Amino acid sequence: MNQSHNCPVCHTLHHIENSSIYWVACHSCNHLLQYNHRNLQDAGPIPPMPDNQFRFKIGQTGNIRGRWFQVIGHIYYLDYDKDDGDFTHHWDEWVIQFNDKSMGYLVDERGELILFAQRGNFTREIPDLTATQEGDSLHIEGYQVLVEEVGQTTITTFAGQLPHHSRPSQILNFIDCSVRNYMVGIEWYDNQYMLHYGIEIDRNEFMVDSGV
Ligand SMILES: [Zn+2]
Repeated sequence: MNQSHNCPVCHTLHHIENSSIYWVACHSCNHLLQYNHRNLQDAGPIPPMPDNQFRFKIGQTGNIRGRWFQVIGHIYYLDYDKDDGDFTHHWDEWVIQFNDKSMGYLVDERGELILFAQRGNFTREIPDLTATQEGDSLHIEGYQVLVEEVGQTTITTFAGQLPHHSRPSQILNFIDCSVRNYMVGIEWYDNQYMLHYGIEIDRNEFMVDSGV
């Protein structure tokens, strides 16, 4: 699986990194492209990635808990900030793929790294999430979890490639929960629910290779 396709807008060649890829960002022309396993289709413009110093780069490789990984996507989120009354609180998530082509998400949570497994769906009853508040306890997939944060976020832009996910600018509701040492995140919009499980990565369980 290493298919290459041209951007339909500017003809830049993109190598599709994983059979789960759904969105490709072409930052030669700043267009969002949808991958349908035959070609790339233009899905309209996306904002350029801000010119910041980020923790990881696309293409960077490393090792988490003994598993080789490569960074293939970088999602730039803005959360709704109650004080500002707008989507202004920035955070980053990196899409990574391991040797066996399974994928994960690395979240930089104020310097701490959390590794989330590839997103899944609910298989059991979805609790009523609309009235949920911080400090509540929820039953998720048979586990009782503690609600730590409730909010709204949106993907402002991304670089590289993403598996199926909400499109940029879609407002996502989220609830972050914990159960023992694990994090459970729920994101939803309309009737689309995404569930993901995370674990904190200690500094000595993680290294990146130098040079990209
Ligand atoms: Zn392009």
